[in-house]
Amino acid sequence: MTLNMVLPRTGVGIDVHAFAPEDDPQPLWLGGLFWEGEQGLSGHSDGDCVAHAAADALFSACGIGDLGTHFGTDRPEFEGASGVRLLSEAARIVRAAGFEIGNVAVQFVANRPKFGPRREESQQVLSEAAGAPVSVTATTSDGLGFTGRGEGISAVATALVYPVSGHEGAASEPGPAKGAPHA
Ligand SMILES: [Zn+2]
Repeated sequence: MTLNMVLPRTGVGIDVHAFAPEDDPQPLWLGGLFWEGEQGLSGHSDGDCVAHAAADALFSACGIGDLGTHFGTDRPEFEGASGVRLLSEAARIVRAAGFEIGNVAVQFVANRPKFGPRREESQQVLSEAAGAPVSVTATTSDGLGFTGRGEGISAVATALVYPVSGHEGAASEPGPAKGAPHA
């Protein structure tokens, strides 16, 4: 009975932040972690593009808008919020809209920081925030583009969610989800 099949939904999110200028240095927050001694990213928030891309992908998967939709100027309480807090709130919104989260995968592109030694730690912090497995990988762009020139960091994320049956907020069949609480 295809009618009763619960189809998962995928989403995508991309986030980019430039490194802060040398005359206005910022702390680096990336993947939910503080990176001591590393050049930070600029932005109104902590610039954690890994966490931001993850949150964006969650909204995308549910079809309920994007980061701007949910954390725009109409929700000033999230101005300057940490990436981890935004991800945690995004997961709450997604569940309130009638979805459960399968997993989120994020890959960022940057020359630094050296991510491997802290991957587990980052995944743990982000997974806790999302209430679902979040995996993080890192790569470089072989010296090409703004990431290769060390001007900033970009991150891309995919998310998989599935509608929780019986929840009135979730779409029961493929198509845009209804009931976005903050759209
Ligand atoms: Zn961002």
